[in-house]
Amino acid sequence: MTTRTTAMLDQFMNEITPRHAGEDEFLQAVKEVASDVLTIEKASHDFTSARALERLCEADRVISFRITWRDDAGEVQINRGWRVQHSNLLGPYKGGLRWVPGLNRSILKFLAFEQAFKNALTGLALGAAKGGADFDPSGRTPAEIERFAMAFMAELSAHIGPERDVPAGDIGVGSHEIGLMQRAWMQYARHWGGAMTGKPLSLGGSDIRAEATGYGLIYFTAAMLDEQNQRIEGKRIAVSGRGNVARHAARKAMMMGAKVITLSGKKGTWYAPDGFSKSALEWVLTTPGDAVFEPAKDLGVTFVADARPWGKEPDIALPCATQNEIELSDAKALVDSGCRFLAEGANMPLTAKAEAHLAKAGVTQAPGKAANAGGVAVSGLEMQQNARFDRWSPERVDTALRGIMCDIHERLKSERGSCCTDTGLIDYRRAANVAAYRKLAQAVVDGGAI
Ligand code: GLU
Repeated sequence: MTTRTTAMLDQFMNEITPRHAGEDEFLQAVKEVASDVLTIEKASHDFTSARALERLCEADRVISFRITWRDDAGEVQINRGWRVQHSNLLGPYKGGLRWVPGLNRSILKFLAFEQAFKNALTGLALGAAKGGADFDPSGRTPAEIERFAMAFMAELSAHIGPERDVPAGDIGVGSHEIGLMQRAWMQYARHWGGAMTGKPLSLGGSDIRAEATGYGLIYFTAAMLDEQNQRIEGKRIAVSGRGNVARHAARKAMMMGAKVITLSGKKGTWYAPDGFSKSALEWVLTTPGDAVFEPAKDLGVTFVADARPWGKEPDIALPCATQNEIELSDAKALVDSGCRFLAEGANMPLTAKAEAHLAKAGVTQAPGKAANAGGVAVSGLEMQQNARFDRWSPERVDTALRGIMCDIHERLKSERGSCCTDTGLIDYRRAANVAAYRKLAQAVVDGGAI
């Protein structure tokens, strides 16, 4: 960064930080974008006079609400829910809901901000939002989940709808929970329509939506490798997590001939030195409870308690668990073990220090806003199907998904002139921020001071 850019960034952050005091994740995400786009803003009179970036940093509104429900023991439980409606410049508010203990406003504001950039890159008519509750679904019975979903929607229903705000799933919210919430919305709104995406097929969901984020991640990774005349076949891939993104990324990577060598959970890492076999992968993905920590010997898998998946000599790293999961020590382990590529299945999985270390070592990195956009892209296709009372074949959706991921890659590639690394490769992080910013800032300008 030049001295002028550093000075501009410091000034910008000094101005906005007091308005978001203590919201560290949000400020981290804003700083990452601002460091790439402030020079673009300053070079345009229209963008500067519209104060485009400042406006893009401020959510349209943050809705916060109480959720009261009764558990199976008859006790009253109280949770807090939010919906951050970040921007509807490009389409209806759009983004997932997560149910995780410890969720807070800062995390949701950062995710909604990132979503605006991600959704812009898809090329579809999608605004941006994020929401959820500080509710831990693990260990809850189906009846409790259903009561919680009803109580959550009792409040959220008033704020959503097919052309207004279309939530989807995220951590802790899968198609089953979406089905419950969609049904609740239909009852409250007295309306049929795609108010949510990621629905079960029986309630108007789309084929390939569950697979979309993981599959899209692999399509983007393949395009990124192709750009450097490399192939995914035979590559050793370290995946973190074993949730929805990780599982479908692992499956697709193996379908395309790669060796998936790790998956991980809160308690440690499953490691298959020669790559998981299909049956070993399915075993890790589907075995419930404690049994999964003791793999049978003939599976060729070991479970390493408290270990992270990054020091096992991968060619490619796919962090698919959660924000800030890769710290500086993990980035060092990746570089030391020879990793050359990283694509983010999770949103902002790298701390700023980890990211800088990988960049310095010349590791090619695809940011989540590009690499994991497949999920929200197929949500966009689900909205199109619902709006036309239509249902596409799995092949049609998968082909469209692959096309969207390749288009995103091309869009970033076209920014190469001002977004390349010291060694002349595409700087995907900067290119994603710049390409999405241009699109959003133009919409800010064209919409006037409203
Ligand atoms: N939660 C996913 C994401 O982070 C999907 C959002 C959606 O489909 O609306 O992009």
